[in-house]
Amino acid sequence: MALGIWILGDRLTTKQLSLQNNQDNKQQTPVIMIESSNYVRQRPYHRQKLVLVWSAMRHFAQELKTDNWQITYETASDFLTPLNKWIKDQQITELQITTPCDRPFLKYIQSLDLNCAVTFLPDQHFLWSRDEFITWVKSRQRLLMEDFYREGRKRFNILMDGKKPLGGKWNYDQQNRKPPQKSLQTPQPLTFKPDAITRSVIDLIKQEKLANYGKIEPFNWGVTRGQAQAVLTHFVQECLPQFGTYQDAMITGEYTMWHSLISPYLNLGLLEPMEVIDAIEHAYYQQKLPLNSVEGFIRQVMGWREYMHGIYDYQDEDYAHNNWFEHHQPLPEFYWNANQTEMNCLHQTLTQVEETAYAHHIQRLMVLNNFALIAGISPQSIENWFHSAFIDAYDWVMQTNVLGMGQFADGGVLASKPYAASANYINKMSDYCRNCKYNKSDRTGDQACPFNFFYWDFLNRHRERLKSLGRMNLVLSHLKRISDEELAQITFLAKQWWATQGSKDY
Ligand SMILES: Cc1cc2nc3c(=O)[nH]c(=O)nc-3n(C[C@H](O)[C@H](O)[C@H](O)COP(=O)(O)OP(=O)(O)OC[C@H]3O[C@@H](n4cnc5c(N)ncnc54)[C@H](O)[C@@H]3O)c2cc1C
Ligand code: SF4
Repeated sequence: MALGIWILGDRLTTKQLSLQNNQDNKQQTPVIMIESSNYVRQRPYHRQKLVLVWSAMRHFAQELKTDNWQITYETASDFLTPLNKWIKDQQITELQITTPCDRPFLKYIQSLDLNCAVTFLPDQHFLWSRDEFITWVKSRQRLLMEDFYREGRKRFNILMDGKKPLGGKWNYDQQNRKPPQKSLQTPQPLTFKPDAITRSVIDLIKQEKLANYGKIEPFNWGVTRGQAQAVLTHFVQECLPQFGTYQDAMITGEYTMWHSLISPYLNLGLLEPMEVIDAIEHAYYQQKLPLNSVEGFIRQVMGWREYMHGIYDYQDEDYAHNNWFEHHQPLPEFYWNANQTEMNCLHQTLTQVEETAYAHHIQRLMVLNNFALIAGISPQSIENWFHSAFIDAYDWVMQTNVLGMGQFADGGVLASKPYAASANYINKMSDYCRNCKYNKSDRTGDQACPFNFFYWDFLNRHRERLKSLGRMNLVLSHLKRISDEELAQITFLAKQWWATQGSKDY
């Protein structure tokens, strides 16, 4: 029986079982990695996403080769042709693959007509396995992230004082999320100059026109595990102390604030979640950092990330088609071209995504997603856009974040109420409204901010549905104070806005 290993592009870790189990036999174990141009043409990916993934794959292959693995690296149009040729040449009878996190990719691999047996090995890239998460779900009456997070803290003994949370509280969010202040000194992100490998991928993508969204350069992302570790160290030293306080703030031209920028590396396997958590906890004890920042960050990785992945695994594939509000408007063209909108918050955030393939959580949730939600855009089309546009996007993280959290398309599996907001929130948490042609305070009239008329129209349109969610009652009570005449004007503006986008069906 001859064994072969196929390393997938988002599992760039030597800790995966197929490599671990064959450490003592590496020179006799063929390993293959494949870049498929057909596969990446399935979506209009951001150019930098392709550069990151292919450059990181090529670097990882080089590291395996240096470590004496018998590695074959193929660039091909499809996966099947090079796979079957390699299986034949190497006389492989069993192909081992780490189970992909993304359901569509797993189904795709299962559909390949391979000339040998295939064994899927468990993916160990998350702290909770699928079975462990489901056991937790079955023990609960409600699926609250906060409950899951506390369970994780106890289970992995992180920020604990015996059986109690360190500092006496599980969650220090009330000390976080301050609005931006004038003259904040934000840290510079750690950037990397493309080396010869990265340059060759940039040239290839340009030549072959493999992607056409977003700027390809400057490309500042790390592409190796060493660089990913350096980003983590930089974050701990330069950003972590202030991370919590300004976690939700948005400032024009400040792309990264105190955020870590580690999601692309975690999602590719270049960083492990527990090594991130350990580094943060260690820094807390060594450097006596503020607990609100440390706890706030650990909650992101140990709580939100694991929870989003667990819920994705727990739901079936129909989750992708959910559309609780029955929203069907098409995605406006400006999501692909920031210059086509004069809404400054969207213009700034979309410009940033074009330049870097990155935006931080609140820009994603409360600007990009919020607009799609209140304007009635189809959840699947905004999910498709996010999946294409972001450097860290994969099916497992898209569905729960965009469909569940952002669009409330699952009707409340994940969130207890929709994240819908007017200009009031954006003005409080950013400086975008100061330089906008729209008036942040108006919901009717020539200068009315679209976030305002769409927000009130959203509440009005879905009034009955929203009543069923207890947490919306306070907001709905504000709706009652708006006169029928003003509501009619609001609806008129919303319809007119869509008509200017070429859609009359709103
Ligand atoms: C609409 C929407 C789309 C998103 N799309 C993605 C995506 O494509 N890929 C992605 O990894 N995350 C996504 N997120 C979650 C989160 O916004 C990003 O993980 C985070 O902004 C990445 O930047 P960072 O590494 O600087 O994060 P930080 O703010 O520094 O947070 C630290 C880490 O916590 C983890 N994390 C925090 N929240 C989440 C979450 N909700 N889901 C998963 N991980 C989380 C990430 O690994 C992140 O790197 C999305 C959130 C929303 C609301
Ligand atoms: S006024 Fe409205 S459109 Fe302009 S930046 Fe503020 S929220 Fe965005």
